[in-house]
Formats: sequence, C-alpha cells, structure tokens
Amino acid sequence: MIDLNPGSMVRTADVAAIHALIDGLPPPAEKRRTYVGASAIGSPCERKVQYEFLGTPHDEGWRFSARTLRIFQRGHLFESMAATWLVDAGFHLKQTGRDGKPLGFKVADGSFAGHVDRVCTGGPLPLEYPFIWEHKALGAKSWKAIESRGLAKAKPEYADQVAVYQAYLGLTAPALFHATNADTMEVLLEFVPFDKARAQAASDRAVSIILDSRAGAMRPRCTETPDFYACSDCPFKRRCWS
Ligand code: SF4
Repeated sequence: MIDLNPGSMVRTADVAAIHALIDGLPPPAEKRRTYVGASAIGSPCERKVQYEFLGTPHDEGWRFSARTLRIFQRGHLFESMAATWLVDAGFHLKQTGRDGKPLGFKVADGSFAGHVDRVCTGGPLPLEYPFIWEHKALGAKSWKAIESRGLAKAKPEYADQVAVYQAYLGLTAPALFHATNADTMEVLLEFVPFDKARAQAASDRAVSIILDSRAGAMRPRCTETPDFYACSDCPFKRRCWS
C-alpha cells in the first residue's frame, strides 16, 4: 500500500538511516587469543578452537554481525550488573589478585588459560567459601533449558568451563552458576559441584589441541557435513571445507 502520509515516510527513511549507521559502526579492535581459552574448550568443534589458537585468519569477508557484537556487549554489562546484585546482598566478590591481574589460570606455557568472572570469598550465608562465580546473560530459550534440565545437561560447554576453573584454581567448593534471563530478567542460580572427570576431559582436549597444533596436525571436524549447526557461523567455514 502506498503511504500518503509524508511525515510517516520521512520517519521510515530516517529510522532506516539510523539503523544503518548503528549497524555500520566499526567493530571493536579485535584482540585474538593466543591460547586455548577455558570458555572455548567446551565448544562442539575442536578444530574451530584450534583455528582460533593458531591465530588462523578468519574467512575473507567474515565478521561478526552487528547483532552478535551487541550480544557480547550485553554479556559484559549484565555480568557487572549481576555482580553488583550479589555485592549489595552482602557477598564479597574478587575479580583480581594481589598483583591486580584478573583471577584465572595459565598452564602449558600459557597455551591453556582462562579468567573467572569472580571468586566469592564470603557472605551472609554459611556456604563453602571461596567459590567460583560464573555469570551468563541468556535468551529465554537457553535460560529455560538450564532451568528445566540443569547446567550439565542443557549447556555442557558452560559446565566444562566451570569445572576447568575449579580444577586449575584449586577452588573445588561448589561453584555458583548465575544466569540472567535477558528477556524477563529472571535469575537462575545453580550450585555446581566439582566434576573432576569433566575437568580432566576438558583439559585433555586442550592438550590434544595444543600438541597437534605444535605438530602441524589438524584436529578432526565436529561433523561430516558443513550444514551442521556449529558450522553455520564459523569464521573458518570456507577454509575448513575447501
Ligand atoms: S566449519 Fe564446522 S567443522 Fe569446520 S572448524 Fe568450523 S565448526 Fe568445525
């Protein structure tokens, strides 16, 4: 239908132009990791983690969509906000060590590393301190999946990340996994007991990726077809399947 209201036509053109300007903002300067990250080791594809570890260039023309970048930013903002809720509730959270550096671990000559969101060192409840605190801001679908099935079944990649932190930081008290539903702002809290076997398996995967990379060998793909869901937004898809 023809829109005969000139004011509305101008508004439509204006919002489209603003939209284009926002989406066209240059992405933040990219700092590629030079290590296998604890947050990545639960990825369904070891080869993808290996490409990242090796600093392999992303496929030509590939870049995170503006929407994906905004989701990353949302994660950082929500993490700070959720940490503030806990502090306001009387819990003591630490993000950095005595040296002022982020709390985390670094092993295998720095080739396997990660930084925790926070460590909770005390609070108003008689809990087993200190413990790891890990936060995720999630859409309703992922949030509900964790609520109904638990972290390990619904999001094993996050459970791997938590187990690795617990193992390498030597903080084996149950970790607090905290997910904020970004649609409804509901909060989900789950204490995650230390799963030594899970931590070991994740650590073994990291070692395999590092050793194969040093030997010039590629880890297997996670699938036999590029139609697999994990490949859809993979920055190495063309290289991987060419
Ligand atoms: S394209 Fe698929 S198989 Fe290849 S690295 Fe990416 S996720 Fe793995």
